[in-house]
Amino acid sequence: MNSLESLNSLLNRMRTILKASGIKDHQLYVIPKEYKTKTLASAFDWLHDIYMSNEYDRVSIVWCSIPLIAWQNYDLLGIKDLTEQKLMIVTSRALIKLWKNKRPRLFINRQVEFCENCNEKAVFTYKDEYKQCGACGEITNEQITDC
Ligand SMILES: [Zn+2]
Repeated sequence: MNSLESLNSLLNRMRTILKASGIKDHQLYVIPKEYKTKTLASAFDWLHDIYMSNEYDRVSIVWCSIPLIAWQNYDLLGIKDLTEQKLMIVTSRALIKLWKNKRPRLFINRQVEFCENCNEKAVFTYKDEYKQCGACGEITNEQITDC
């Protein structure tokens, strides 16, 4: 398993809790491309520190204290003032603070690239299977090469 795979596998394991705490989806992504081994290693360490932190643990405990369907129902019914929701807000605040502290730049799904379609430099947004030009909207399927 290369370092990018290790990083993604840890990120996948943490995604539900990170999302539940209110961290933006576009920051829970690593663009598949060549990175320096050192860059990947330090990003992994940074993420792993969060995984092992009390802050992450506390959000997990609150999130897992009731079934997913209950969270969905609260959302659906516009219920906002239950104890576990208040606990989520408080514990998430601490986790988000940790997430914002020295977050490696590679946790982002956007980068500036030259677009062959509109012939301009534009911000591309990466999804699991494709990337999209922010200027012309052109979608390109990504070939993720495994070497
Ligand atoms: Zn374009």
